[in-house]
Amino acid sequence: MPARIIDGVQLSKKIRAEIATRSAILTAKGVRPGLAVIMVGENPASEVYVRNKVKACEDVDFHSVLERYADDLEENELLARIAILNADPSIHGILVQLPLPNHISAERVIESIAPEKDVDGFHIANAGALMIGKPLFKPCTPYGCMKMLESIDYPLRGARAVVVGASNIVGKPMAMLLLQAGATVTLCNSKTRDLGSVTKDADVLVVATGKPKMIMGNMVKPGAVVIDVGINRLPDGKLCGDVDFDTAKYVADWITPVPGGVGPMTITMLLMNTLEAVEHSLTHHKHGAHK
Ligand code: NDP
Repeated sequence: MPARIIDGVQLSKKIRAEIATRSAILTAKGVRPGLAVIMVGENPASEVYVRNKVKACEDVDFHSVLERYADDLEENELLARIAILNADPSIHGILVQLPLPNHISAERVIESIAPEKDVDGFHIANAGALMIGKPLFKPCTPYGCMKMLESIDYPLRGARAVVVGASNIVGKPMAMLLLQAGATVTLCNSKTRDLGSVTKDADVLVVATGKPKMIMGNMVKPGAVVIDVGINRLPDGKLCGDVDFDTAKYVADWITPVPGGVGPMTITMLLMNTLEAVEHSLTHHKHGAHK
């Protein structure tokens, strides 16, 4: 029997409805969640992502600001703009779409975002907080993967989890979240020897390498849950994941499709982080007032 599908579109709808309800409550109290999205230069893929993010904000009735700059924008000008957004009380989340043009340091730009508005969770303070088990924001893609596992009530405690791909934005934070949920985690990279023997041991297999269909069915443990983060465009224009869905689905118990899996969840969790940014800011103010 083929694996059951964890449907990121359906799950996203459910979570976005919850976000819209919580957002309406905040808006009624006079605080409408606000997200600023900054894009520098032209990039067709970024263009689509940014459009989807702004549209998602509109769907849940967030305040959203899209700022576009030409690719000759100076780094200092961008930093100055971020400083203004950091101080703007109508903006709770700031997202700078990557990649940035070569003359701008993504690292300096991300570090200039106030950590409490860093809804991507990429700021070094947020990465550190996640590492010690006290995340302020969980990076959106791994957060979405955790929600997918939660949606099937997967018992992570004691489970063997393998994450293939160790980037700062997906693989590493994913491994941390799984570890914190009680899983025994192995984190693989391009140097991992005999990758198949490692992945075959995984009750939960998360793949984020950017290598189309690299995980074949014979690398999957029978009965495993397979979460495919990869988004790759094939020469024929179709999208595919880093997992070979057609062979893996006959081995796994649960699998996420591409498209329609982790992709929509990432944007949903960006909305969730923006909402949580507002909720944090309100508790913070309250604590301040008690002092
Ligand atoms: P990066 O290129 O930053 O990192 C890739 C990681 O995979 C590296 O750690 C690399 O190892 C590892 N890797 C590459 N080849 C292999 C291999 N053959 N075996 C084992 N490990 C390998 O990618 P990202 O993490 O940014 O993205 C990964 C994928 O996820 C891409 O397809 C991207 O499009 C997609 N993505 C999807 C998102 C979504 O919303 N669904 C969001 C973000 C990304 P090493 O460290 O040794 O170089």
